[in-house]
Amino acid sequence: MSLAPGALFKAARAAPTMQAWTFGARPGGCVLAPGGWRLAALAWLWLAPALAFAAQPWPPLLQQLHEAAIDNPEAALAEVQRRQRGPGAAGDAEAAFWLAVAAARLQIMLEADVDARASLREARRLFEARPQPDATMRAWLQFMELRHRAFTEGSVEALQALTEARGVVGVRPGTVLSCEWDETESWLLSEIGSYDEAWRVIEQLERCAAATGWPHYRAQALMDRAVIAGSAGAPGAARGSGAIDSARVAQLFDEAYAAVGPGEGRFLRSLIAYSAGTTLTELNRPVDAARQLQRALEAGRALGDEAGVAAALTALALVEQREQRHAQALRLLAEAEPVLRRIGTATATRLITLYRHKLQSLVALQRRAELPAAVDAALALPEAGVQPALRSQLALAVAAAQADLGRHAAAYASMKRAHELAEQSRVLGSSAQVLRLQSLYDNSRREAEVASLRHAEESTRLSLQAQQATARMLWAALLAAVALAAGVGALGWRQWTRRRKMARLAMRDTLTGLHNRRAIEAYARSQCAQALRLSLPFTVAMIDLDRFKTVNDQYGHAAGDAVMRAFARAVPGQLRTPDRLGRWGGEEFLLVLPGTSLHELPALFMRLRGAFTSAVVPGMPQPHGCTFSMGGAEAGRDGSSFEVLVRVADRRLYKAKAAGRDRLR
Ligand code: GH3
Ligand code: MG
Ligand code: MG
Repeated sequence: MSLAPGALFKAARAAPTMQAWTFGARPGGCVLAPGGWRLAALAWLWLAPALAFAAQPWPPLLQQLHEAAIDNPEAALAEVQRRQRGPGAAGDAEAAFWLAVAAARLQIMLEADVDARASLREARRLFEARPQPDATMRAWLQFMELRHRAFTEGSVEALQALTEARGVVGVRPGTVLSCEWDETESWLLSEIGSYDEAWRVIEQLERCAAATGWPHYRAQALMDRAVIAGSAGAPGAARGSGAIDSARVAQLFDEAYAAVGPGEGRFLRSLIAYSAGTTLTELNRPVDAARQLQRALEAGRALGDEAGVAAALTALALVEQREQRHAQALRLLAEAEPVLRRIGTATATRLITLYRHKLQSLVALQRRAELPAAVDAALALPEAGVQPALRSQLALAVAAAQADLGRHAAAYASMKRAHELAEQSRVLGSSAQVLRLQSLYDNSRREAEVASLRHAEESTRLSLQAQQATARMLWAALLAAVALAAGVGALGWRQWTRRRKMARLAMRDTLTGLHNRRAIEAYARSQCAQALRLSLPFTVAMIDLDRFKTVNDQYGHAAGDAVMRAFARAVPGQLRTPDRLGRWGGEEFLLVLPGTSLHELPALFMRLRGAFTSAVVPGMPQPHGCTFSMGGAEAGRDGSSFEVLVRVADRRLYKAKAAGRDRLR
């Protein structure tokens, strides 16, 4: 069977969105969410036709398409479109409506968001034109519209709309529509960072799967569970020791794979295998990851899905690369590239990822003879429609290759471009993974950067000041690019966004939203080490709010909390890109300032002081009158380890307190 180009890849990118395959419902096991009866009763009063809906098990057309959708959604969509064009479709408004809904559903699965919107508009038009409103039609249309919104927006508002509509429509528990609702909700809850809630809804979905008797919902629930359990900060990960139980994650994926059953469902199986492969790669389980990706590869080959095959090959190459088997990685990429080039459309993203890996492996193997051609090919890749995050990663790999070739000016330009693209996608963030990759990246780039900074031509051309600015730019570019390198890789975009949010959550202080102690310390350590290696300025400052006990005593603890939040909001606006503020504990904060010298600290202190003094604090008079004291320490000058710098900064902070507070020492 031949597939339209890009089928599996698009779908694989949509992995977490592959929520709903099945349409069959068997009335039975009744699982009610809290408040479900009340909502059902309300719906009864408001929406008499809801009764008709409840009595109707499933729309026949959707059920007919069920097997086709999980086996080969692209082919299923082609079939729907064939029927839409076929004779008789125009005459039967009801059939036309269900065809439009079915098309929308498949298009959402395939992430064809614009096409899905057009199909939904058509379905809505056909629905409104009916003389009698039909409750089943209304329920499915409303659901599909909300699902589309959820997957394109991923917002709290979309979740609210979905939850509210569920009550109004009167979705009966244990029905197909209820399972579909669960799936969409669990995805959205994960997307906005409510992992506990998402976990709860997945449990609900498992009960729903049992009630409907469709195994695919169970497979979906297991896959969702595995993805969440494989992410830091999620409930599955947090249980027990707090570490991710990667063996358990691998097992959940296996269970999901098995739950699809041996029959049709090639598409779903390949999707689970691909998702498992990319998740396990991130969890550093190369053997399990490779096994799953081999499955995805075989499934892709069985489906005749070239894009799926290329996606699996690229993901496998990443596994090899992580294991430092670069020659092996290059061999897989060489197999994937002609496939992608042959397919042509919708492969820009894949090609960009492929070239990033290719350049990295060529650099690692020091295969300099092949680098110039690879760099040229990478620069010639079409970038239209590709996420800036991925383009930024490619620019970074190009920069590394150019630096390796001694083309420092070009490397610098590529780094700047990587930084600009990173800014565009607003994905600067910090996570343990980011920091780990940052140090890996730094190791491989160290020599090149030193060479670049000390390059004879530049040294004579640039003044000392300009050199410092260059160094700072390099840092900013590095930070931005490395932040991006953390999660994208072979992961789908939506999956990656979800991961990123989870990782970010694990590194946040809940009161202030700042980096928590673990995160700021990790950041400070890596920045300190890098600064010392490259002889760049690096400063830390310890900050403590003054007479904070008095604030609590006088205005209450809630006002005290509000003051801390105001401080956390006021400071970052005064900082540069690589600067970070974290909560050290209580009312103490650590400021990390890569590229800054101690003599620049007084000016920064005055800026922070101004911003904090004028901040409006709920529950406090205005001006609030709170102040802070600060002690700074610079790497090299005051010490050559993070511990020593913190000790020195702490000692100076104490001196600032002793000297009357509201000052810097
Ligand atoms: P100074 O630092 O100027 O010497 O005086 P201080 O009153 O701030 O002294 P100290 O560091 O001993 O006290 C810190 C107080 O900050 C004690 C504690 O009640 C309060 N505090 C610590 N964490 C929080 C918090 O999360 N919220 C609120 N509202 N208060 C906190
Ligand atoms: Mg204090
Ligand atoms: Mg204190």
